Amino acid sequence: MKRCVLIMLSAVLLMALFCSPAQATGSKLIALTFDDGPGQYTDQLLDGLKARGAKATFFVLGDCVQYHQDTVARAFQEGHQIGEHSFSHPDLTLLSRGEIQKQFQDLTKLLDHACGSGTRYMVRPPFGKTNDVVEQAVGAPLIQWNVDPLDWACRDAQEVKRCLVNHASDGAILLAHDLYSTTVDGALAAVDDLQAQGYEFVTVSELFRRRGVALKNGAVYYRCSSTGKDLGAISAPKISVTPKGEQYLVTLSAQEGVPIYYTIDGTPVRQDSTQYTGPFMVSTPVTIQATAAYDLNGSRSETVFQTLTQPQAQPPVLSLEEDGLTFSCSTPEASVYYTVTGVQDTSEQRYDGAALSLDPGVTVTAYAKAPGFLQSAAATAVYSPSKNFFCDVFPDAWYFDAVDSICAEGIMECTEPGCFQPDSPVTRGQLVMALYHASGDPVPGGHSPFQDVSTEDACADAVLWAYSNGIVLGYDDRSFRPQNSITRQELAVFLHRFLRWNGTDLPRPDLSGYRDIAGIAHWARKPVGELTAGHILTGSNGYFDPTATASRGQTAALLCRTLEYCQQSISASPVSE
Ligand code: ZN
Repeated sequence: MKRCVLIMLSAVLLMALFCSPAQATGSKLIALTFDDGPGQYTDQLLDGLKARGAKATFFVLGDCVQYHQDTVARAFQEGHQIGEHSFSHPDLTLLSRGEIQKQFQDLTKLLDHACGSGTRYMVRPPFGKTNDVVEQAVGAPLIQWNVDPLDWACRDAQEVKRCLVNHASDGAILLAHDLYSTTVDGALAAVDDLQAQGYEFVTVSELFRRRGVALKNGAVYYRCSSTGKDLGAISAPKISVTPKGEQYLVTLSAQEGVPIYYTIDGTPVRQDSTQYTGPFMVSTPVTIQATAAYDLNGSRSETVFQTLTQPQAQPPVLSLEEDGLTFSCSTPEASVYYTVTGVQDTSEQRYDGAALSLDPGVTVTAYAKAPGFLQSAAATAVYSPSKNFFCDVFPDAWYFDAVDSICAEGIMECTEPGCFQPDSPVTRGQLVMALYHASGDPVPGGHSPFQDVSTEDACADAVLWAYSNGIVLGYDDRSFRPQNSITRQELAVFLHRFLRWNGTDLPRPDLSGYRDIAGIAHWARKPVGELTAGHILTGSNGYFDPTATASRGQTAALLCRTLEYCQQSISASPVSE
């Protein structure tokens, strides 16, 4: 019995001896570090590490970073860790606290260009020389090493490899210098050999994090022996996208508790990139880049990319024909969906190709969907109370009623079907035509007094009428310049002359409500003042803004008020025989 129990106990002990270390420690981790760079061979080293799936840590010098910014950015983006070795490689133990801090502050500023502001950098003191002052001054963990192949002295790839391989152990921190091609060749050969032995090359950050060791600022570390724990590598996040109307809804997911950083503007993920907090919308084309990281500088996953190029369908074109409203869309196989609001109210309908009869006073909104396309932007049109059809003037605009009535009376018109262009400048030709239409006068006889207005021009009759009635004078060179836009004070002068011609009396000028009187031209003060006193002009927030260009929307509103003013003064006049 006793013997039997003993045998069983020994068996359990043996199993514990053989099994538990392997299970508890997980993989053999090792940190390869490079000092004094970056240099001319660093990119070649990064190529080699990338091909081998190995991560390393670079303790860089400010003097070298200045000339190799792109290399630092590349190393950071490829998941290596960037550490600080000082700016100019002094013996820190001979410097004051302030001098030590300046060495690292200047370097941090340079490195943040590549890694993003807010990045934390571990420190390796030059020559490995440190003391209490240094440890307090740097405010970061100090990382030494326990394997040194003296690669800077031997300059022999075989020797560098032999030394790294022979002295490697689980948890070791290996020192090398990426300044020599012999070091790059030797280190990469050592990576091959040690990976074959089951070593995983990780950054210094990951070596300690995976073993559950929290590094302290000002403490000095030489290696990280097995703690019996391996928290495992950080998996790349997943990007999932769902089309939602005109855009995509993007959801990112990663291992529980690991923050995700992302960009959607094509720039690499950095420490100052957006941290994911929940699903978000993107428009195409877009490239989403995402990295899961406890610390983007060394404790991170690989970066995942997803490019979304699916185009949007073209918005439908709404046209009002005699038999009603029709929709068309230039995207192949598109279906159009529409909603009517206003005096009629319908839920969303699919357009079946039959013209839609509309009641005046409705707004129609439509969009297109097509296979292989995202939903189009919405297109909107109004069938106004006065039966005008507008795709660019809507009831929420302050000048809507004026534009509607001015168009209904044929005083102004759309520049093309459905298109009033309310925000475009009104031209001199357009304004004179509007005044002429408003006058109701017959077509005048005679020839154009202006060398740039011929009888074929749309505004020819109007210009002739306006000139004969003293409403326009033209320029000294006998030009009228019908395509020129006009300012608000010029518009006031034209309207004022129109009222005078019409025989309408205006009240005494009043400019007291404007804070920018000084900016109003001398020749425009009386007209602006009288039109203001007659409530035709109002300005905006106490400003008249005399030299701003008059828009078509504003012009419609002022014409409307001018014509109403004429009407009122006619009805107020005593009836003569
Ligand atoms: Zn050094």
